[in-house]
Amino acid sequence: MTQETGGFAAFNLNPNILAAVIATGYEEPSAIQQQSIPIIMAGHDMIGQAQTGTGKTAAFALPILHCIDPAKREPQALILAPTRELALQVATAFETYAKQMPGVTVVAVYGGAPMGPQLKAIRNGAQIVVATPGRLCDHLRRDEKVLSTVNHLVLDEADEMLKLGFMDDLEVIFKALPATRQTVLFSATLPQSIRAIAERHLRDPQHVKIQTKTQTVTAIEQAHLLVHADQKTSAVLSLLEVEDFDALIMFVRTKQATLDLASALEAKGYKAAALNGDIAQNQRERVIDSLKDGRLDIVVATDVAARGLDVPRITHVFNVDMPYDPESYVHRIGRTGRAGREGRALLLVTPRERRMLQVIERVTGQKVAEVRLPDAQAVLDARIKKLTNSLSPLVADAESTHGDLLDRLTADIGCSPRALAAALLRKATNGQALTLAAIEKERPLVPNNAPRGDRPERTGDRPDRGDRERRAPVPLAEGRARCRTALGARDGIAAKNLLGAILNEGGLAREAIGRIQVRDSFSLVELPEDGLERLLTKLKDTRVAGKQLKLRRYRED
Ligand code: AMP
Repeated sequence: MTQETGGFAAFNLNPNILAAVIATGYEEPSAIQQQSIPIIMAGHDMIGQAQTGTGKTAAFALPILHCIDPAKREPQALILAPTRELALQVATAFETYAKQMPGVTVVAVYGGAPMGPQLKAIRNGAQIVVATPGRLCDHLRRDEKVLSTVNHLVLDEADEMLKLGFMDDLEVIFKALPATRQTVLFSATLPQSIRAIAERHLRDPQHVKIQTKTQTVTAIEQAHLLVHADQKTSAVLSLLEVEDFDALIMFVRTKQATLDLASALEAKGYKAAALNGDIAQNQRERVIDSLKDGRLDIVVATDVAARGLDVPRITHVFNVDMPYDPESYVHRIGRTGRAGREGRALLLVTPRERRMLQVIERVTGQKVAEVRLPDAQAVLDARIKKLTNSLSPLVADAESTHGDLLDRLTADIGCSPRALAAALLRKATNGQALTLAAIEKERPLVPNNAPRGDRPERTGDRPDRGDRERRAPVPLAEGRARCRTALGARDGIAAKNLLGAILNEGGLAREAIGRIQVRDSFSLVELPEDGLERLLTKLKDTRVAGKQLKLRRYRED
C-alpha cells in the first residue's frame, strides 16, 4: 500500500471498500470525509454542511457500504437526492465503491423511467436505493412496506430538495422508515427549514462543518471558467494557446487524471509530465528538476504529489479539478507568484460546482473573475505572436548566412522570394492552423458552448415530478425579485408565453422583466422589486396556456 492511501486505511473500512477506493485513484480523504466517515461508521446521526465538490458523496457512501450486510438481500440504505442527475451520480459512486463487494447491488429510482423495473430491483434485494423523493413516494403508494427494512437514510443536498418543494414527500418517506434508523443529512446551507427537519427526524445528531478560515492571496491574478466536466481537456488546450506562461502546474483529483491530461498535453506538443503519489520519490525529484530547468513546462499533479513544490518559474496554476476546500485552493495557487513575482491562477468550474466557487470567493475575500474560452481570433493572434517571437531573433543575421542560398533556390525553382518564404513557413509550422477558418474547423469547443447560466428557452429535458430539474441558483440583479408559478414545460409553457402574458397584462416594459427560467413543473421569473405586490395583484387572474398563472414571490430558502 502506498503512503497516500494511509489516510483511507486509517478508517478501518471493510478491505473490499478500501481496495475499491485505492483503485479509484483517490490519494487521501478530503476534509469532509475525514470528519464524517468515523461518525457515520459509528452509527450516529449526523448533519454535514458541505456542498458539491467537497467529496461529500464518498463521505457518506463509504461508511454506509461498510455498515450494510451484503448477505441480506433487502434495502438497507436509502439515499434521497433532489434530481435524477444527482441520483444517478450518487448511484454510480456507490457502484464504484462497491465494485469489490460481491452481492451488493444499487438501484436508482427516479421519474421519467418506468416504475416496474425499479420496484423489481428493490424487491430483488438491492441493498442501496438512491431515489428522488417524488418517484419514491409513487412507489410507496403502490407498496407501503417497500422501505421497512431500511436502517440508514441519507438526505443529500437537503436544501435543494426543499427548494424544489419536496417537503411533503420527505414527510411521507420519513413515516415509511423504521424509527430506529440512522439518519444523515447533507446540506450546503442550513436554513431554518432544514434545522426544523433535523430537529424532528434526527436523534442527537453530530455536526460536521468544514472550517473555513479567511485566507489571503497576494499577487495572484485569479479567474474562473465555466465548463462541462467532459470538456475540460479541450478547454485546457484552448486556454494554453492564449496564456503567456513560463511554467505551469495543473491540479487534478486522481492519479489517472494526471496521466490522462499529461498525455493529452504531450500529444499536442507540450513538454508535460504527470506527478502523483504512485511516482517514486527519485522520479518525482527528476520531474521537479525538469520543471525547474525548462526541460518540462507543465506538470499535472494531485494535491498530495505537489506538496511543498517550489519552482520559481511557475507563472500559472490551472485548477482543472476543483479543490476540496478553500484552504487547498489557496495552497494550490500559492505555487505561483513565488518570490514576489506575479502569478495567474485559473479555476475550471462545472455547473454543479458554482457554489464552491462562491465559498472560495468568500473565504479569500476576492472575486474570482469569469473568463470565457478564447475565440478563434484570439487563438490566431496568439499563434502568430508566438511565431513572430520565435522568428524575429533569427532574422537579424539570416540574410548574411543564407541570403545567397535564397537567391540560388529562387532561381533554381523559378519562384519569388515570397513564394519560397511561404513554403518554408508552411514547413516550419508543421501543418498548424494559421487562418481563422482553419482554427474554427479544428476547435472542438467554441467559446459560447461553455455552460452559461440558465437559458429560459431550453426546456428540452423534461423529467417528471419526481426529479424536477435542479440548477445552481442564479444571482439576482439588484432591484429584482424572483417569482414562481407552478406552470412549467409540462403544461406546455415556453418562456415567450410567460413574457407575453406579463407584458400584456402587467403593463410592463420589456426591460423590466429579467431572466425567465422554465422548468418541467414550475417557472421562475425576475420582476422589478419596486411595485411587485401591485403587479402580482394585477396578474391575479392572468391565464397562460389556458391555466391560471398564480405568480408568487419566491424565496430561496
Ligand atoms: P462530490 O463532492 O461528492 O460531488 O465529489 C466531487 C468529486 O471528487 C467526485 O468526482 C469524486 O469522485 C471526487 N473525489 C471524492 N473524494 C475524493 C478523494 N478523496 N480523492 C480524490 N477525488 C475524490
